[in-house]
Amino acid sequence: MSDLTLDQITDLPLDLCVGGKVVPASDGGRFDVLDPATGRVLASVADGTVDDAMAAVDAAAAAADAWAAAPPRERSEVLRRAFELMRERGEELAFLISLENGKALTDARGEVAYAAEFFRWYAEEAVRAGGEVTTAPSGANKILVLRQPVGVCVLVTPWNFPAAMATRKIGPALAAGCTVVLKPASDTPLTALLMARILEDAGVPPGVVNVLPARRSGAVVSAMLHDPRVRKLSFTGSTEVGRVLLREAADQVVNCSMELGGNAPFLVLDDADLDAAVDGAMIAKMRNGGEACTAANRFYVHADVADEFSRRLAERMAALRVGPGTHDDTEVGPLVNEESAAKVAELVDGAVADGARVVTGGSRPDREGFYYEPTVLLDVPRTSGILGEEIFGPVAPVVTFTDEDEAVAMANDTEYGLVSYVYTRDLARGLRVSERLDSGMVGLNRGVVSDPAAPFGGTKQSGVGREGGHEGMLDYLESKYVAVTW
Ligand code: NAD
Repeated sequence: MSDLTLDQITDLPLDLCVGGKVVPASDGGRFDVLDPATGRVLASVADGTVDDAMAAVDAAAAAADAWAAAPPRERSEVLRRAFELMRERGEELAFLISLENGKALTDARGEVAYAAEFFRWYAEEAVRAGGEVTTAPSGANKILVLRQPVGVCVLVTPWNFPAAMATRKIGPALAAGCTVVLKPASDTPLTALLMARILEDAGVPPGVVNVLPARRSGAVVSAMLHDPRVRKLSFTGSTEVGRVLLREAADQVVNCSMELGGNAPFLVLDDADLDAAVDGAMIAKMRNGGEACTAANRFYVHADVADEFSRRLAERMAALRVGPGTHDDTEVGPLVNEESAAKVAELVDGAVADGARVVTGGSRPDREGFYYEPTVLLDVPRTSGILGEEIFGPVAPVVTFTDEDEAVAMANDTEYGLVSYVYTRDLARGLRVSERLDSGMVGLNRGVVSDPAAPFGGTKQSGVGREGGHEGMLDYLESKYVAVTW
């Protein structure tokens, strides 16, 4: 169990962080943050209003010119200090993440390490924004391309990775010279508020990063998107909300990056190394307790190896220790809230009604909190609803196939296209299949793809744009073309 308690994090703001100040909501409103392990209240946080959102945009706009003009090296060093402070305060951050999100401390520690890397990576990228000079084909002039910050950005993040989804946006935005208003998910605002403190301690000037918890997220984000000073929206969350925000952003033609839902297929071909495939399946399915957009959602396993793969997977899933995330021996924590646990139960019950067989798990344990048992389902009919929806929980539905083309067709038969996984001992075959999988990312004999140095993102209704890597910063830069003769 973590040695920490919430009271020990003495400088954790529980109000809005706007313009370098910690302020209550303009109408005094607050909302409760719950502990998913018990359902009880953990803390009460200021509930930002539309007026507060406008004050945050004012602060970000006021800070924009100076931050854009700051030497890239200065921006880089601030990000580097933020990376170091995140590592120094890693246990506190991991504890907060585990407490408000429910994930196991090991997952939370992994998230902090991953999240901090975005600050290190973009500290390095900040001094390499680049540009281009070419000669026009006619020879009449030069084509000079400058990279300039897009301006004030609105960042909206989900609850499943409260630190990493914030740093994946704040890192490149600050490196590019943009200022931001971050609206964290209402289930997990505490981590973002501690991040605001860490960024301030790292030397981020007032107004450059504003953090605005708000339960009325629709009204607050919509108001910001209708303000002409806001030039970019970077959203991570569900496809459903992403669609709404794309429409909202249309009014002021706001530049949008969208990291949306997923429905990842996990293919085990007949020649797969089964030890590696089961290890990969455990990571792809159970990292974050199954609450990841990259979570393997559908397992397509060749009939020749399906029995053995499923037996081993079920054994591993059944052995996982379920409990409060903040307990050191916990491997799987509760889901984030009651709706999530109820949705997982509904999907599993639906699959069973369709004819699927429960090999392990299959119900909510009899205890307080928002738990669901690690579950493996076999003989899942190809038409079952569970294969069409993001499960977002610790459930692995297995479908068998006999033909590679059939497996690829089933894998691609979804409106989502975030990530796919494929296991085979034949690298050339794996690369051929990877090319045919309609997703922005592929794990080839790898159960995890996330890497701050790589372009993360999806095709189809999984989103628009890429976060991470060199490409991640381009999303926060405008290319300005200057035609010049010399
Ligand atoms: P969500 O769409 O419900 O909420 C995401 C954020 O949007 C939250 O901050 C929420 O408060 C806010 N929001 C909700 N309704 C809004 C509205 N009408 N206007 C403006 N903001 C609104 O998603 P979630 O439940 O927090 O997160 C889970 C989803 O996020 C899953 O679909 C998952 O796949 C996706 N996700 C995607 C990625 C990725 O990189 N592609 C990463 C993590 C999570």
